[in-house]
Amino acid sequence: MWGKPLPYSPATYLYGSSTLMIKQQLARFNRLDLLGAPTPLVKLERLSEWAGRDIYVKRDDTTPLALGGNKLRKLEYLAADALAQGADTLVTAGAIQSNHVRQTAALAAQLGLGCVALLENPIASEDSNYLHNGNRLLLDLFDARVELVENLDNADEQLQAVAARLSSSGKKPYLVPIGGSNALGALGYVRAGLELAEQIKMTGLDFAAVVLASGSAGTHSGLALALAEELPGLPVVGVTVSRPEETQFPKVQGLAERTAELLGVPLPDAFKVHLWDEYYGPRYGEPNAGTLAAVKLVASHEGLLLDPVYTGKAMAGLLDGIGRQRFDDGPLIFLHTGGAPALFAYPGVFGD
Ligand SMILES: *Cc1c(COP(=O)(O)O)cnc(C)c1O
Repeated sequence: MWGKPLPYSPATYLYGSSTLMIKQQLARFNRLDLLGAPTPLVKLERLSEWAGRDIYVKRDDTTPLALGGNKLRKLEYLAADALAQGADTLVTAGAIQSNHVRQTAALAAQLGLGCVALLENPIASEDSNYLHNGNRLLLDLFDARVELVENLDNADEQLQAVAARLSSSGKKPYLVPIGGSNALGALGYVRAGLELAEQIKMTGLDFAAVVLASGSAGTHSGLALALAEELPGLPVVGVTVSRPEETQFPKVQGLAERTAELLGVPLPDAFKVHLWDEYYGPRYGEPNAGTLAAVKLVASHEGLLLDPVYTGKAMAGLLDGIGRQRFDDGPLIFLHTGGAPALFAYPGVFGD
């Protein structure tokens, strides 16, 4: 019909926008479809009322394997690469209560692969729930082979050593870095960023920021890269869960650069790393009073479970950020990255 708008403006049709480039470049990589469908973007009505600000949540805690979480998006690319290379064992590492190790071990079980995991105890806990319940309990159900180590200070070398041992016994190991956070894994969050941008555009709302927990950085780097391209005015704020800004910044920035390079696209002009490091103390894996209050508030107002290691800290940052007027006007989006299985490793902290 006359007057019907073209799907692309003539300029993008002829030359291709960077967004189309990102989509096209992503399609070059092997990917297992583990999610099946976009995760929901929904408004938290009672929390919004409580906070005096509209708060939406992107439900990446609902990804469909073994209690969900953000690592499954990275594993779509990493496990596809493992299979393409003919691997028979996924080797990874993390804390005893790592959600990443849980999701990796579950996927190995689903794919019929072995899983070997190096685990550290970053808070030197002797609590039997921390040592045996929560995520750790599930590793045994998935038949993962667990090796406790003193620390993971040289994780890459430690993982290489395990891989060498497995190779010499005839196995074909594939190394999944801590948190799945290399450039290939971060592609999962580039893809998530395109998915979220589409959902945001459908709401017609002018959001003030996206807030998420920033740890091994693959989630933050990938999401911020894609959103800088799609919605250049929308800040992505990473609330650190383990480090001060000074040491987290090079991790996020460097991984975003390597991810753009892997994709073969320039880092978007609007790309900027925003970090808030006031909410992670006393250290990784140890919640503070603000963390616990945020977990309790969201559970009691929304029936929604956050966790004591990542999302509780990120939500504490979001709520404090509203109070201190750290955001521009407009509704906010909280990326829920999962983690609730760890609640059962910390039952004592919620007592009075
Ligand atoms: C791993 C994890 C994060 C952090 O993601 P990174 O990509 O490591 O920065 C956030 N939330 C939960 C629940 C996680 O398990």
